[in-house]
Amino acid sequence: MGDMDSERILNAIGECHRLISDSKNLKHSIQDVISKLGQATEVDRVYVFKNYRDKSGGSFFSYKFEWVAEGVEPQLGLPLLEYVPWDAFSNIAEELAKNMVMNQRVEDNQNELFRETMEVQGILAFLFLPVFTGDHFWGFIGFDNCSTNELFSDEQKTALHALANTLGAVILNRKQRKRIYLEKQKYQTIVNNVGEVLFKLDDEFKVTFLNKSWTRITGYSITDGVGRVLSEFIYPPMVDKFWNDVNHLLESWDKTGNFETKLITKNGDSKWVKISLLEMEGNAAERKSYSGFIIDIDREKQARYLSKEISSRYETVLRNVSDVIYALDRNGATIFISENIQNFGFSPEAYLRTGFLDSIIHPGDHDTVQPVMAGLMESNYFNINYRILNSDKKVFWVNDRRWVEYSEIDEEYKIYGRISDISDLKNKELEIEKNRSDLFRLNELLQTVNETQVNFLFEEDFKESLDELLVKILALTGSRFGFMGEILFDEQEKPYLRSHTITNIAWSEETEEFYQRHFKVGIEFRNLNTLFGYSIAHGVPVISNDPSHDPRGGGIPEGHPPLRAYLGIPVFKNKELLGLIGLANKEGGYSESDIEFLRPITNSYANFVKAIRISRLRKAAEDEREKTNRLFKLLSESANDIIAFHDLDGTFRFVSPSVFKILGYQPEELIGKTPTDVFGVMDSRAFKRKTSEVLIAPHKHRISGKLVYLEISINYLSEADGAPKSYLAVSRDVTERELMLERLVKSYEKEKELNMLKSRFISMTSHELRTPISTILSSNQILKSYLSKLEDSILMNKSLGHVEKINRQVKRLNGTIEDILILEKNAQGSLKIKIEPIQIKAFLEELCVSFCEEHPGLRKQTMSFPSDDRTVYTDKNLLRHVLSNLIENAVKYGKPDGEGTELQLEFNSKDIQILVKDRGIGIPEADQKHIFGSFYRAKNADLIPGTGLGLHIVQEFTSRLRGTISFVSKENEGTTFKLTLPYGSEDTIGGR
Ligand code: ADP
Repeated sequence: MGDMDSERILNAIGECHRLISDSKNLKHSIQDVISKLGQATEVDRVYVFKNYRDKSGGSFFSYKFEWVAEGVEPQLGLPLLEYVPWDAFSNIAEELAKNMVMNQRVEDNQNELFRETMEVQGILAFLFLPVFTGDHFWGFIGFDNCSTNELFSDEQKTALHALANTLGAVILNRKQRKRIYLEKQKYQTIVNNVGEVLFKLDDEFKVTFLNKSWTRITGYSITDGVGRVLSEFIYPPMVDKFWNDVNHLLESWDKTGNFETKLITKNGDSKWVKISLLEMEGNAAERKSYSGFIIDIDREKQARYLSKEISSRYETVLRNVSDVIYALDRNGATIFISENIQNFGFSPEAYLRTGFLDSIIHPGDHDTVQPVMAGLMESNYFNINYRILNSDKKVFWVNDRRWVEYSEIDEEYKIYGRISDISDLKNKELEIEKNRSDLFRLNELLQTVNETQVNFLFEEDFKESLDELLVKILALTGSRFGFMGEILFDEQEKPYLRSHTITNIAWSEETEEFYQRHFKVGIEFRNLNTLFGYSIAHGVPVISNDPSHDPRGGGIPEGHPPLRAYLGIPVFKNKELLGLIGLANKEGGYSESDIEFLRPITNSYANFVKAIRISRLRKAAEDEREKTNRLFKLLSESANDIIAFHDLDGTFRFVSPSVFKILGYQPEELIGKTPTDVFGVMDSRAFKRKTSEVLIAPHKHRISGKLVYLEISINYLSEADGAPKSYLAVSRDVTERELMLERLVKSYEKEKELNMLKSRFISMTSHELRTPISTILSSNQILKSYLSKLEDSILMNKSLGHVEKINRQVKRLNGTIEDILILEKNAQGSLKIKIEPIQIKAFLEELCVSFCEEHPGLRKQTMSFPSDDRTVYTDKNLLRHVLSNLIENAVKYGKPDGEGTELQLEFNSKDIQILVKDRGIGIPEADQKHIFGSFYRAKNADLIPGTGLGLHIVQEFTSRLRGTISFVSKENEGTTFKLTLPYGSEDTIGGR
């Protein structure tokens, strides 16, 4: 190719390199590249063949891109150039597959078929440049030269080969980029969908990565988290422990492990989590990094603590009793000491020490106390008074009672005890030298109060012990009447008094009756214009030894026993006025010392009232719960469906008893577990969504083992503020329905399988036929060119006639195969639709013209078209298949010269309508309902060749174009096919 301007070619190649490397759209760039190369090399045609492999492993070339010089006929789209089997030109394929550039004169090629195929097209020389994507033979770029048989120079060949390599590399790069992108996306979805928080930390423990669960568990966004040190999210009191745990873990041999801690969540709560941590391997020069995950174990922890709830009830008791309660093991080591020890000025750290209780005994009492304590294991019980000395050198008198008990649970002996502060008594004893027996009685009384409290909390019945207490107080103070009561508030926030216990002050029959009636529930006093009202209003004690003349009182009701002296003591706890103790008619009147004397009782009573209130609140809450429970039970017990409430993680919180009937489980067995725990089948993702949905899941009946299909409707319930709350699931037994469906699906599957087998067989054979057909066609073409050179014109014409016949029949065969393959492609779902706007009238006219050209003997058919044209959005290719099948049939089965065939187009408001009419043999009525089936042919069509595939294609494609097809036909009179199509719109462009 000496004439070729080498510089121009090399320049073009350089430009092409740039085009490919900067390419945004590779398809466009390839097109640009081949036209540039074509122009520069002045060949007739430059094209690209791409390799394909089909399912059975056969290899093909397909003609994909093309540039042609002016005057040269384009070949792109020729069916013969699609899927050209390698076998047909095996030596070429082999050479190219070795990544060898082929530049030859056609006459020099060894493969006869190839040589002849090229020569028929007038090609004198060719250049094939293989394109490799990595090790993979992707295809080749071809250059055809019809004007000269000169070859490219070595320099040009090398440069072109390099260009082909660049193209291969770019294609590979795109592919890999796509693959990496897809992988990344897949990884991303997995990472984001795991329930745990995944995190990565740098060497300073700063967060560098978090997945979406972070937000779910903590409420913080991912950006809130990244960049901050992990410990900033740890519940502050646990931060030290967190670092301890971390260090401990990182000192271990494998630098990995887990520990439990608490996170603070965005809304300020704290949450128990388990953190797993791992130091990442890296080379010494790199900075260290860590990764791990956080599991929400809050619920688990709560469950663990649930069992402690019962003991927390005891704790309430312990906190409300002023005594210190403790437990020791048999060797005197502390198991438990109630917090009240702090009232003596000891810190919690101090009293957890072993031997603490021994250590606080006042040195002066040590010798008397020690032997009693030492003898406990024999005596089993003691009750002694002694002094204790705290670290501030403060002295308290205490009463300590201890006893030994055998614990069934721990299978060992334990020591229990209680220490009461009797300093007040002791001090009084010393100060005013009161009668000893009185003091003991008072002491006893105090115990009674404490015991009353304990009884109340455990038995919720306090009346009797309080009555007893009041009687004792009256006796001790020498009073005649008295009451103890609680201060409550009415709707107007006005305080009033309700007695817990009161002495009978009835002064008439009616008042006696009233007293008896109300004594148990408490008598209410709302008139505050009284002596006791004064205490309530002002929060101060009232001592009045002349009540009838006292300006603070409002007199007494008529008939009331005379009031000679009155003492009212308000009952406070932490400055909150809780109650009132009132006493009356002590001989000689009351004084301040009575208030002092009663102070321990007053304090205990305060604790007591407080405890009643807590209990009352709890009871109210319980009642409320009970009420809704009852309602709900009514609803759920009478329902056949299973009604269940789930926590956000799917844990059952409530299940209706119907679960037993349907699945054989008792509701109690399910509470606290998730459906996955119990059934192992339910899709737990259902509980992650914020919408309501219905799913069907098989469950195993617990007792019979039978499969039960449940249709579960899961409803996401949110609170008024939108915060997530719980799920309500309603499950229905749909076993019968599902089994029926299953049977149907099975038989359908079987049929589908048979169909698949059939279609796979058909497509395989069709592929097999392509190779011989393309060989026959090209040989026939060659034969034709030889024959036309024959001298003997009669022989020539006869032979050419046969060649034409071969050509026609092979083309028909080819057409049938094309039909089968396109149907197969459609059935497999790989036939893609490309919607574009077309002018429908022009389209039909063009179709008729080319049809008449192919069938020269035909009289022109009648066309009745509207005067204007319209745009229809549809797939040109499929529509052409549909219409040519219909027209071909009208000609084939119509009158011999095409008389009476008519093509009609009409525009309706919603759709267009195309009629294809003929006046031929018609379709016998018996065949009409089968006519669209594949391979079906009517019995009157026996003598006319055909396959019975055409109408099947028509039907399939029409439905893909969202149109309809129907026909009317009468035997021996004619047939009219009616095709309607939607106009479509811009939105449908690009496919469906
Ligand atoms: P083919 O024409 O290859 O047999 P088709 O699927 O196109 O296959 O048609 C199926 C059958 O429907 C034909 O064999 C013929 O019996 C009947 N048929 C189709 N079109 C017409 C028509 N216009 N007039 C009469 N019969 C027709």
